[in-house]
Amino acid sequence: MQKKHAIIIGSGFGALGSACILGKAGWKVTVLEKNESIGGRATIFKAKGFTFDRGPSWYLMPDVFEHFFELFDEDINKHLDLKKLTPSYRIFYKDLNEKVDIYSDLKKDIPTLEKIEKGSGAQLEKYLDQAGYQYEVAKDRFMYKNYDSVRDFLTKEVATEGRKLSVFKNMDRYVRGYFKTEQLQKIMQYPLVFLGSSPYNTPAIYNIMSHIDFNMGVFYPQGGIYEITKALIAVAKKYGVTFKTNSDVQKIIVEDGKAVGVKVNGKELRSDIVISNADIHHTEQKLLAEQYREYSESYWKKRTLAPSALIMYLGVDKQYDSLTHHNLLFSRDWKENFAQIFDQPQWPDDPSLYICAPSKTDPNVAPKGMENMFVLVPIAAGLNYTEKQLDAYADKILATMEKEMDLPDLRKHIIYQKNFSVKDFKDRYNSYQGTALGLAHTLRQTAIFRPNNISKKVADLYYVGAGTNPGIGMPITLISAELLYKRIIGDKTSGPLKKI
Ligand SMILES: Cc1cc2nc3c(=O)[nH]c(=O)nc-3n(C[C@H](O)[C@H](O)[C@H](O)COP(=O)(O)OP(=O)(O)OC[C@H]3O[C@@H](n4cnc5c(N)ncnc54)[C@H](O)[C@@H]3O)c2cc1C
Repeated sequence: MQKKHAIIIGSGFGALGSACILGKAGWKVTVLEKNESIGGRATIFKAKGFTFDRGPSWYLMPDVFEHFFELFDEDINKHLDLKKLTPSYRIFYKDLNEKVDIYSDLKKDIPTLEKIEKGSGAQLEKYLDQAGYQYEVAKDRFMYKNYDSVRDFLTKEVATEGRKLSVFKNMDRYVRGYFKTEQLQKIMQYPLVFLGSSPYNTPAIYNIMSHIDFNMGVFYPQGGIYEITKALIAVAKKYGVTFKTNSDVQKIIVEDGKAVGVKVNGKELRSDIVISNADIHHTEQKLLAEQYREYSESYWKKRTLAPSALIMYLGVDKQYDSLTHHNLLFSRDWKENFAQIFDQPQWPDDPSLYICAPSKTDPNVAPKGMENMFVLVPIAAGLNYTEKQLDAYADKILATMEKEMDLPDLRKHIIYQKNFSVKDFKDRYNSYQGTALGLAHTLRQTAIFRPNNISKKVADLYYVGAGTNPGIGMPITLISAELLYKRIIGDKTSGPLKKI
């Protein structure tokens, strides 16, 4: 019997996950990626002896990765040399001239927190108990389930669990109920940036992020994050998946209301189903004719977008002891900073920022004695700027890093610098308004309220990746691949796939 053929537009983790699953399920799969390399936001580039991961740098939720590889009878540890980072990360507070290391080990972390706020150790334990409980419930019942209608989502179970899971409180209020000092509140709230959200617009269910970070730990695959991409490509190839780079899809071909293929680099390629892993706004507005679009421009204008970012890839000709692998600098005025990203878009004048220095763990990503630094400043999606303005802002950030993160003369030691920001996100990934991550995880953009993974207007057209459920992040987009497969085979269960 002839195999069914799936075309996947884009090659991010959602696409790679789907390619592996459908390949194993006996489908012919073709992945079409517009860029020169496979992996979506998780690719690398090399310059002057440095190897830079372009996007993600935190390996979180190891259980999700492990489970995903087990579906293919693959031991993830045979693909990745995973190191648990110690400390997991370092926090710098502006003006306070102190560093706080978090180890994801309560024996070490409780005394650290107690020094900042008396009684906070016990509070942390309580907070994490609840976060751990919520994580398990969310994973078993909500994250790995497809929803078809609001009714389907708003079951009695959601109403009861929803109250227990603090779905209806925002993270800011929730965290204040546990911790009094701003310093600790910020530690509990910063992981929301991973979800492209703010503590003021995100339901408290996402305190599960602290379970992920404090209880599960932070890992690094030796060689860099791109090693995960390579591992997924290897699994997909084992099942015969074809990858085509420099393949910019211009159109999804619809006949009699069904997706029957795509137009790529001027040629038609036919298939039984089409799956788009590209930004959903781009897919709908650019690849589909108007009558097949589910959402209007005004729908998109009303969405809360995850931030864009100013990213600086820096090659530095010396190493700095003040840094560890992951480093966070928190803004003084937290609320104002989030407001300048989400509510009144402008260049943040007191930004939070993040530096990943993988050369602290991995000698292969920088020449000997040098530092590889990936700097990320969250900024509003859709910001306009000239290159001159961007360079000036980048220089201001570098000056802040020198002063606040104990990196004297950093600017004199930079031997390679590449800036990447809003316009680059648009150009490289066709990302709506240049958001780095997609739709923020507000309550109104979660579960049934997020774009679904199946088109209502076109048969045999599906979506996978950060734009649909469950949402943003490498492990989460692997879950979206499982949800897609469940959707295709009509599996309505909750919980991870047991087999393919
Ligand atoms: C700077 C940054 C830091 C991050 N940090 C972390 C982190 O530390 N940990 C973590 O877990 N996650 C992190 N993330 C989030 C994570 O990387 C993403 O959520 C995830 O990788 C997105 O996967 P995806 O499946 O949605 O596809 P994407 O990676 O978004 O890939 C979509 C692909 O579609 C392609 N495409 C678009 N249009 C077309 C077209 N017309 N034809 C062909 N191809 C097309 C694009 O080029 C792109 O390659 C980070 C993201 C960024 C940007």
